[in-house]
Amino acid sequence: MDDMNNRAAARLFILCGPTAVGKGTVVGSLCERYPSQFYLSVSATTRQPRPGEVEGKSYFFVSREEFQGLIDSGGMLEWAEVHQQNLYGTPAKPVDEALERGLPVLLEIDLDGFRQVKAVRPEAHSIFLLPPSWEELKRRLIGRGTESTEEQHRRLETARVELAAQNEFDELIVNDNLADAVSALAKSMGLA
Ligand code: 5GP
Repeated sequence: MDDMNNRAAARLFILCGPTAVGKGTVVGSLCERYPSQFYLSVSATTRQPRPGEVEGKSYFFVSREEFQGLIDSGGMLEWAEVHQQNLYGTPAKPVDEALERGLPVLLEIDLDGFRQVKAVRPEAHSIFLLPPSWEELKRRLIGRGTESTEEQHRRLETARVELAAQNEFDELIVNDNLADAVSALAKSMGLA
């Protein structure tokens, strides 16, 4: 790998964390604080949009057929079935284009996706966002009220598995106080 590739590859960041830990809020705040200083990867998903979500900004909302087409054409850096329900994946092209422009790239993906990216881009820096406690995670999930009780149980089960994998990550950040978590992430990405 030449120097140029090395520099670009070192700027790929993966953020993971259990459901309701506040990844979306942390990433949203990072975008507000450091607009246009990094590229936030927009995933494709087969899930239905939630109220307020914007096509091409929150996600690219696609059908199963379209998603499969992206996989078949080699256009996905990684993809996974999340919460045993919907497909989510990272389109590779915008990530590589941003890296070529010298921008740090942030992927907010699940554990499965993280492992896939690590396998093909081992130099990527991985960060796991932790809740202050298990009780607090449950409180945040139930409190946001966007999922049915059945869906909450499914997500908590996934969260248990995800928390058990925290040692695979390069760095842990506890999302106790939002501003502190954002600062820690910004520092890690070389933005601060
Ligand atoms: P949500 O449905 O709440 O937006 O996202 C559910 C989960 O999908 C989150 O844990 C999120 O990290 C994961 N996710 C979002 N985009 C991607 C992606 O491109 N790839 C993978 N593997 N997971 C993703």
